[in-house]
Amino acid sequence: MTHTVNDRAEALRDLLERQFQEHTDQLTELTVHSRQPDRDGYDPDTLRRLMDAARQGVADTAQALRRMSEGSYGSCEGCGGDIPLARLEVLPWAQYCVPCQQRR
Ligand SMILES: [Zn+2]
Repeated sequence: MTHTVNDRAEALRDLLERQFQEHTDQLTELTVHSRQPDRDGYDPDTLRRLMDAARQGVADTAQALRRMSEGSYGSCEGCGGDIPLARLEVLPWAQYCVPCQQRR
């Protein structure tokens, strides 16, 4: 039996909520470091890169959760086709199927 996105919706939502929380916590923590006079010993470029990655993570997971509540989750925003469940289980915030992602 093959599972569909709907079968896994609850698990994917839990995963996204957890990741959203983790990225948010990470961003908060990095912001605290960035406000210290010596940035708690962080190299400015590294700190900026980490903050960008955390910010991107917050945005990606928030968008995926929004798509879930709107019912458009799991549809590719490029071609409108279904994003394979196997892809969503690895990248639950994926907005595109693999061919569309590669075209971008
Ligand atoms: Zn597509």
